[in-house]
Amino acid sequence: MYTCGPTVYDYAHIGNFRAFLFEDLLKRWLINRGYKVMHVMNLTDIDDKTIKGSQNQQVPLRQFTDFYAKAFFEDIKALNIQPADVYPRATDLVAEMVALIKTLITNGYAYRGEDGSIYYAISKFPDYGKLAKIKTNELKAGARVNQDEYAKEEAQDFALWKAWTPEDGEVFWETELGKGRPGWHIECSAMSMKYLGETFDIHCGGVDNMFPHHENEIAQSEAATGKKFVNYWLHNEHLLVEGKKMAKRLDNFYTLRDLLAKGYDPVAIRYLLMSTNYRQQFNFTLESLESAKGAVERLRNFVRRLHDVEGGKESNDKISVLTSKLEACFGGSLDNDLDIGTALAALFDFVREVNNLLDDNKVSKSEATQVGGLMMSIDEVLGVIGKVEAEEPLPLDIDALVQKREHARKSKNWKEADEIRAQLKTLGIILEDTTQGVRWHKEKT
Ligand SMILES: [Zn+2]
Repeated sequence: MYTCGPTVYDYAHIGNFRAFLFEDLLKRWLINRGYKVMHVMNLTDIDDKTIKGSQNQQVPLRQFTDFYAKAFFEDIKALNIQPADVYPRATDLVAEMVALIKTLITNGYAYRGEDGSIYYAISKFPDYGKLAKIKTNELKAGARVNQDEYAKEEAQDFALWKAWTPEDGEVFWETELGKGRPGWHIECSAMSMKYLGETFDIHCGGVDNMFPHHENEIAQSEAATGKKFVNYWLHNEHLLVEGKKMAKRLDNFYTLRDLLAKGYDPVAIRYLLMSTNYRQQFNFTLESLESAKGAVERLRNFVRRLHDVEGGKESNDKISVLTSKLEACFGGSLDNDLDIGTALAALFDFVREVNNLLDDNKVSKSEATQVGGLMMSIDEVLGVIGKVEAEEPLPLDIDALVQKREHARKSKNWKEADEIRAQLKTLGIILEDTTQGVRWHKEKT
């Protein structure tokens, strides 16, 4: 599995993380279903944007990109994204890119333009446009584009190797192709095939990478090897923020760090960005981030409650019927094109029904353990519950407060009961009144 990684010229934004979280979910699900996954994610550390950024800050390219690479790894850790097996950096694999371009020249797919750069001749590759479904027959022969990013309507011969120009400053390699640097698209062909072979199974990325980036990867790789490049392409749809395309000028542009600085929980951010099916556009709002936090808390409280079950009665098979139903529905939904929306709906139905049984004291200790095990295996896929400890005993003074409030409540002294509840909240203890009496947990900080 190859996933296009970040361009390390800035902090990654939540649109980037929607892609990385969809890919994390896909990978976790494949592993859950017994597949062995070799995951490669590149870091784009040489392209038009990184060069410009390093020049603006007047630091060497590597120093500039190291800073954002480090930030990226901190961010994915905060979001509980499982690391890839390999993170190749484009600047470490220039020799592989040069070799690939040489093969394309030998095979007749690449040529040198008057500007000294080497271009890919899309007219030589009859399948060009098959991924993004574009027709190229109206193109003017030999029309060329030198930037890394351009629109479908501008499909034309693109740069594989960019001859050095004064704007590149210190950034160049002296190679058999001349003094210059690789184009963005050849980087991903070289990096993916180095680690995964000429044909591999899964390639993912955001839908905005479909053209020209992935289209060009196919053209380069298949023209060089004569083999199918990728068996399955998966692209996640766009992220909107408060109903609009995210843009710095609209004040709706968020990096992960922006949200953490506002006090949002990274696990809630993970849950929210992952909870919409990848083929659907997703509208991110701060309000939905609040409800995501509530959803994660519901799951954690449920698991905590299962830990606490002592001597309930057997459920007369109700638990085993519910768990089988959940396993079939959760698994069946994710097997169906990673339909996380339906899978999560089934999970919350299950939590509600088991909570009802718990309210009636109709879950035995061994059934609770069984349900707890199922929740843990589901969380290996979702990655949002984490380790929920059985609560350690309360310090005596806090326990005395809980008892005092129970007493007040039983004497229907609601005012005092509410005051004690508020007092406990300031100490980070959250109370829940259930039919079996009061339960408590520590507030997540
Ligand atoms: Zn890529």
